[in-house]
Order: sequence, then C-alpha cells, then structure tokens
Amino acid sequence: MLTRQRKAILDVINSYPGHMTAEEIYLKAKQKMPTIAIGTVYRNLGVMVDAGQIRRITIPDSPDRYDRSTKPHEHLICKKCGEVHDVFITGLKDYLERQAGIEITGYNLNLEYICEKCKEEGSNEQV
Ligand SMILES: [Zn+2]
Ligand SMILES: [Zn+2]
Repeated sequence: MLTRQRKAILDVINSYPGHMTAEEIYLKAKQKMPTIAIGTVYRNLGVMVDAGQIRRITIPDSPDRYDRSTKPHEHLICKKCGEVHDVFITGLKDYLERQAGIEITGYNLNLEYICEKCKEEGSNEQV
C-alpha cells in the first residue's frame, strides 16, 4: 500500500531524469503536497531503498543521490560540477568476484571524471 506521501515522492523521482538529492526531491514533492515534511521524504526514501524500488548513491563529501533505475549500472561523477551520469559496464561483478576469488553481494563504485561541459568551460578559460 502506497501512502499518499510515498506516491508523491515516487512521482517526483519518476518524472525527473537524473539523480536527485533528498532535498531536491523534497522541494519538488512540496509543490504537489505543500504539507509534506523533509523527515517524511527521508524516511520514505529509506523505505524505498530497502525495498529495492530505488537506489541510493553515496558520494563522499556530497549528499546522497537517489536513482530510479535499479538496473545494474555504475556512476560517473564529475569532479568539477558534481553531476552524476550513468555508465553501463557489463560483467563487472563477475570480474570482481573472479579477481577477488570470493562471492560478493554488492559493491559501491563511483567513477570520477571531468564531464564534457566542464572540459569545454576549462578550455575556454585558457583562451
Ligand atoms: Zn562537470
Ligand atoms: Zn544511475
């Protein structure tokens, strides 16, 4: 059973592409449901992560992001602007297990890079 709040939160996650922070989700959910509290958003996000409905991305020195795609994929994180992009690498879990010689239940991998936009901005600065 979806509570009204959870449905509002899920609607926000499903109607915006990308990887939002809890605060961004809260601000958008608030437009639809002005009485919603940020604590409710955090609590529901936690429940949905535990239920496997959405995925939490933990980024050091940055707020957690939430991902509506639970398909296996990794994240590219721009070191300059902090934007998160999806990258699909097949067979990574198998590879890690073979290399480590153990069965793993999961992993957290953030790939760091400089995105195209920031690269362009960087090259403009030098001109
Ligand atoms: Zn960037
Ligand atoms: Zn993603």
